[in-house]
Amino acid sequence: MRQTGDRLPKALILFGPPGSGKGTQAALLKEQLRVPHISTGDMLRERIATGDPLGLQVKDLMQAGRLVPDDVVNRLVNDRISLPDCAGGFILDGYPRTIQQAEALDGELRARGFEPVVIHLKVDYNRIIARIAGRRQCPVCGALYSLTSHPPKSPDICDNEGSRLVVRDDDRESVIRERLEAYDRQTSPLLAYFAASGDAFHEVDGSVGSPQVILSAVCAVLSLE
Ligand code: ADP
Repeated sequence: MRQTGDRLPKALILFGPPGSGKGTQAALLKEQLRVPHISTGDMLRERIATGDPLGLQVKDLMQAGRLVPDDVVNRLVNDRISLPDCAGGFILDGYPRTIQQAEALDGELRARGFEPVVIHLKVDYNRIIARIAGRRQCPVCGALYSLTSHPPKSPDICDNEGSRLVVRDDDRESVIRERLEAYDRQTSPLLAYFAASGDAFHEVDGSVGSPQVILSAVCAVLSLE
């Protein structure tokens, strides 16, 4: 991420409801900015897949569309951002998601010398429900596909790995509604928190255009930083 003069490396926080395109934008931005993409959802799913004790602890909560405890994700993120590849900045996707997580992150970023920049991807809920219902993921490399806007070259097969794509357990419609409710209840209050924090905060319309068009809009606001 750009570092001029004595400016601090940036912690780019992609914020928005489930299905707003945070994961897609984070993957594109990672290529553009050459900094790590840290997705708490992906880290938790990896723990579940490997059967580690933390994975077992969070599995049921995630499958029901509920948030996992703050101390669990705070620890995962703190461990990750202390690795050397994060020294030049990083992209957070799906974190923070509660006021407690935001406060914990704020303390960590200050202590470690990173400057937070929040990008809010705004997308309406009807569009989100349609998007998530058509979402498929590669169980091997994590690549995301959309049956309507970004299908794989062969139906149901990952372009990179040749593996069969899956529907995430929490992408079923009843669970999507639960996730949107969790977002309304626990995560959307963070918008007021960010606004009051005085940190850089930008809104981008995540509902129109292809992922590349939205990426250009994100890069345009980042160039103002
Ligand atoms: P989405 O943003 O589409 O909901 P994620 O992959 O970011 O997808 O998250 C999937 C699930 O992982 C969430 O519903 C929640 O159970 C868990 N999770 C991810 N990040 C957090 C977090 N920061 N705090 C609590 N739970 C989280």
